[in-house]
Amino acid sequence: MRRQQEETPEYRTEIISAIRQEEAGTIQAAKLIQAGELVAFPTETVYGLGADGLNAEAVKKIFVAKGRPSDNPLIEHIAKKSDVRQLWRKIPKQAQLLMDTFWPGPLTLIAQKSDCVPDEVTAGLDTVAVRMPQNKTARALISKSGVPIAAPSANRSGRPSPTTAQHVKDDLDGRIPLIIDGGSCKYGLESTVLSLVGEPTILRPGAITREMLAALIGEVRVAESILKPMQEGETAASPGMKYLHYSPNAEVIAVLGNPEQTAKRVLALYRKAEAEGKTPEIAATEQTKPFYKGKRFVVLGDRNEPETLCASLFSALRDMDERADMILAEGIPAEDEGLAYMNRLLRAAGFHVIDASQNG
Ligand code: AMP
Ligand code: MG
Repeated sequence: MRRQQEETPEYRTEIISAIRQEEAGTIQAAKLIQAGELVAFPTETVYGLGADGLNAEAVKKIFVAKGRPSDNPLIEHIAKKSDVRQLWRKIPKQAQLLMDTFWPGPLTLIAQKSDCVPDEVTAGLDTVAVRMPQNKTARALISKSGVPIAAPSANRSGRPSPTTAQHVKDDLDGRIPLIIDGGSCKYGLESTVLSLVGEPTILRPGAITREMLAALIGEVRVAESILKPMQEGETAASPGMKYLHYSPNAEVIAVLGNPEQTAKRVLALYRKAEAEGKTPEIAATEQTKPFYKGKRFVVLGDRNEPETLCASLFSALRDMDERADMILAEGIPAEDEGLAYMNRLLRAAGFHVIDASQNG
């Protein structure tokens, strides 16, 4: 369960509907971006918190508003593919094919940065992450601003990424001037991050899967830290991997196994928690919901369609956090889009995992 912290608001945060007032909303937002202010905007992955990506002072405000560690770099968002040329020193050999196939869309590509990208965006790295979003409002905002927009997810650092304008308001009310409301995000998890510096390597899994990338460009590696915590002394390929992420205040436990094994173990944990005076809630799947009659649960989606689980995970974690102090969430095989789901779930759980296929 969550406690709201009192603080003095710096802004009266306005929300504009992209559906009713797209033109007016993006014009107003673009003026703020050009003035060095922040705007939260919808994308097809999660809501982004944007600033002029060529203005170091504006970019610094993102870190302040989010409470984000300054060594965690941002993604530059562009409105057309050719804009990548000003941001990268040169286009890596696989990049053109990837951009032609997956842009606009939920794929972020990393290459050597050019001199115009401020160090504040890249947290001092000599590489920069770039993405062209599919969301129409996001692209209209970037075009009207006339600059690349540097943006991380629009949550307070450590919280689950926001997939609605209300989530952004819950986290950043009073800390930013404007939120553009474009409804719920289609994918619900952040973009796939692929480094093209050296061997192509996935630093963060997303809706564009390893399998889809490999079918196009051949072998694609997956960074080791995706399904396990960073080890002491290990350097992060992607600095974001270092931090505790996506975490509600409630204790989260991930339970792995086939549907029946999982449901039985979840029920045992649920009863034990209640006996200890806790308020547990279950993040269930279509396959397991018949087991949970009379218990508190939400259905995230269908195990055979991992994208449905991805789309509702963050939103469900936020909702359940309002009611429960323990969240029992079902894991699925870490394949295809299941890899992105498990990457976020394991971090939300602080790697507290119970394997229900084992006895005990
Ligand atoms: P967010 O959009 O809030 O999820 O943050 C952007 C993610 O992209 C973080 O996990 C960063 O660590 C990662 N990222 C951005 N730029 C780079 C880069 N140059 N090298 C490695 N990872 C990056
Ligand atoms: Mg984030």
